[in-house]
Amino acid sequence: MHEMGIAEGILASAIEGAGGASAKRINSVNVTIGELTQVMEDALQFAWEALRTGTIAEGAELNVTMLGARSKCADCGHEWFHDRYSGARCPSCESYVVLLLQGREMKIDSIDID
Ligand SMILES: [Zn+2]
Repeated sequence: MHEMGIAEGILASAIEGAGGASAKRINSVNVTIGELTQVMEDALQFAWEALRTGTIAEGAELNVTMLGARSKCADCGHEWFHDRYSGARCPSCESYVVLLLQGREMKIDSIDID
């Protein structure tokens, strides 16, 4: 379950960030995850709740924003949302020269601390 490793990374970064701001506790952590990372939000929440115990993030909510995969065609400029199988070819002009605009994100947007 790779969500456990991701949750560990988020928690470590949040605690590090909060430590730098000499926080007493972390109230919430906001993250953005692209759908192409194949992260399951439920599994990530489960891992988060298991890992945060005993840390300054013990009561912290993990707010996840899932981003759908979106690509842009380099030939005709068409932009479309897709899953991980249908992003290789432009549905408008059938070009294979496409650029992934979003879908592989895995980042912490903000941390709310006291
Ligand atoms: Zn196109």
